[in-house]
Amino acid sequence: MAYTLTFWGTRGSIPTPGPRTTRYGGNTACVGVSGPGSRLLVLDAGTGLRPLGHELMSRRGGPLSTDILLSHTHWDHIQGLPFFKPLSAPGNSVCIYGAAQGEVPLEEILRRQMDPMVFPVPLTAVAAAVQVTEIEEGEFPIGDFRVRAFRLRHPGITFGYRLAPPARRRGNPSGTDNELGEGGDYAVGDGWRAGLAAFLHETDTLIHDAMYSEHMIQVRRGWGHSTPRQAVELAGEARCRRLILFHHEPEHDDDAIDRLLDQTRAFARRVAPGLEVEAAAEGLELVL
Ligand SMILES: [Zn+2]
Ligand SMILES: [Zn+2]
Repeated sequence: MAYTLTFWGTRGSIPTPGPRTTRYGGNTACVGVSGPGSRLLVLDAGTGLRPLGHELMSRRGGPLSTDILLSHTHWDHIQGLPFFKPLSAPGNSVCIYGAAQGEVPLEEILRRQMDPMVFPVPLTAVAAAVQVTEIEEGEFPIGDFRVRAFRLRHPGITFGYRLAPPARRRGNPSGTDNELGEGGDYAVGDGWRAGLAAFLHETDTLIHDAMYSEHMIQVRRGWGHSTPRQAVELAGEARCRRLILFHHEPEHDDDAIDRLLDQTRAFARRVAPGLEVEAAAEGLELVL
């Protein structure tokens, strides 16, 4: 049974609208996963969630139920939530899944970004029914999907996910935000890298943080992100079929991402022959 990945937001850190980012997109992280008859599962609630919400509302035939799975709660992964139109209609339900951060519950983090001091409508006042569920590493169901969560190397508690839709065993993974190189002080334990490769083993399409150029990483080690080359090495090691470069650096315009993609494909031909490499672009749909 085919299902579809749709990229609604591909950018990291901060939205980057304007004529120089029209092809790869300026909205921050948001990917929709849907199959025939399956409930929509949304990965991350960056500003790409806003156009997704508008699309859902324009073609709804009745009350909407949406599941949103957060990798973590940095702004670029939650900032679309206050502008998610389905929240404004009674009868809709929105279930949000993600990790607490230390002692702070997930629901409180989401409420804070809609605090009256910084936003006019509190999360507790929206018309839709909102349910917030905290998750931990391991396996759990969301709607029709089987989800496995794996802790990533990034400030705070950040999870990568492997999503298996109905009738599929293997699933497709998302690893953002994630630092594959040296640096950073993350509580992920020994054997993390081997565990990650095993987690991804022989999956089809890996969406991975590929934010920094080889030049940038020299001064940004420990910031929690990877280069496209590091993502290729991981995808090759895990024998994935396809890698989608994701979480684009705001300083990179469309032409810069084109160049990065060309260089990354040349690198992949040497170190991971057979691996297909694409760069996430807003509006891109992949049928799996
Ligand atoms: Zn991010
Ligand atoms: Zn982050």
